[in-house]
Amino acid sequence: MQNITVIGAGTMGNGIAHVFAQTGFNVHLVDVSENALEHALITIGKNLDRMIKKEKITEADKSDTLARIKTVTKISDGAKNADLIVEAATENVDLKKKIFHDMDAVAPEHCILATNTSSISITQIAAHTKRPDKVIGMHFMNPVPVMKLVEVIRGYATSDEVTNKVMETSKKLGKVPVEVNDYPGFVANRILMPMINEAIISLHEGVAGVEEIDTVMKLGMAHPMGPLQLADFIGLDVCLSIMHVLYEGFGNPKYAPCPLLVNMVTAGNLGVKSGEGFYDWSHGTKELVVAPKFK
Ligand code: NAD
Repeated sequence: MQNITVIGAGTMGNGIAHVFAQTGFNVHLVDVSENALEHALITIGKNLDRMIKKEKITEADKSDTLARIKTVTKISDGAKNADLIVEAATENVDLKKKIFHDMDAVAPEHCILATNTSSISITQIAAHTKRPDKVIGMHFMNPVPVMKLVEVIRGYATSDEVTNKVMETSKKLGKVPVEVNDYPGFVANRILMPMINEAIISLHEGVAGVEEIDTVMKLGMAHPMGPLQLADFIGLDVCLSIMHVLYEGFGNPKYAPCPLLVNMVTAGNLGVKSGEGFYDWSHGTKELVVAPKFK
């Protein structure tokens, strides 16, 4: 396994390209947007600079890493020599089905097709290819260069051989892969999102305020940030969409999204990316200021 193609150069795609290239793999980074590709290379450069400052890598490592990344705008150009493709494009079922159909048509027969999806069924995506045994989830965490976990998700038809190769490759990246099966939310989001939803229900029912809920979880459970702050970082629209996946996937009312979460997303209060969620992010500092609505 030497040639890696990463589809999508956004938040996750640039980090995934970074870690593969830094470990010595040849990387094709594909995005429909030239702007996203340019931005990704700038971000990777900045992240490598940070590592140089911390004396984790040298200037030569940085230039070698960047030299291993080629950017292209067409899947057909990026995937024809790939041994492994990691898809990290926008979270949308129809888009992913199309990308997997296109990748399947151009990638070599031996190539493994992985997806970084947070919530879409691997089995469903695999059904849009002629190689479901070679389709797998490789769920990296944000920020990819820093976070150690890769949730490796076996679809219904994923073979043992492909799972083992992906586990081994993840270890080569310096990550800790964990094998899980393909059920809604996998493990990470099946546990994280109901916790966040329960924090929002607690706020909605007046059990405690924003700061109080986050402080209980930070100091009481040693979480590095509280669930409401984390929800603001993830994006409330993303949290809502994953709760819908759990609710529909299990048909169990315990996964019903909190009406307050639904209202906030409908109103466009999505957290950090919109400037306001449970906290006010418009002041541009790291200081935590509770949003006026929850004061
Ligand atoms: P993003 O919006 O930052 O980036 C998505 C990129 O995909 C964009 O640059 C877009 O131009 C590109 N794209 C769209 N259609 C394309 C196509 N047909 N071909 C090639 N590129 C295309 O999204 P993101 O946050 O990086 O998320 C990417 C994937 O990773 C999603 O499946 C998401 O669920 C998953 N994920 C995200 C996080 C996170 O914290 N952001 C964490 C884990 C997993």
